[in-house]
Amino acid sequence: MSGHYTGHGSMAAHKAHLADNEPDCAQCAAYVEAWRDAHGWGPLDLRPCGTSAALRRHERNGEPIDEACRKARARIKQDYEAVRPPRDRSAERRRRSEWRAAA
Ligand SMILES: [Zn+2]
Ligand SMILES: [Zn+2]
Repeated sequence: MSGHYTGHGSMAAHKAHLADNEPDCAQCAAYVEAWRDAHGWGPLDLRPCGTSAALRRHERNGEPIDEACRKARARIKQDYEAVRPPRDRSAERRRRSEWRAAA
């Protein structure tokens, strides 16, 4: 544990664990479980294969992606591409030149 943050048992500490790629400590795990219950998420690790939660779980644990989750990944990608607005490169360029001007 890296120990550069304090206040375990909070969302901030939970995110710090994630950022450091380490498992939650007991306090943070209990906090997250309570948070998920309160928000109607249910235990994330029990989501069935073929959901984005299961897919993320495989990726996080370095597990092989099974058939159901492979299909889910393709579906999620399609959905994402369907709703993603076309990239507006002129706006991007304008923003970048504004950053340069501000620097
Ligand atoms: Zn913790
Ligand atoms: Zn799966």
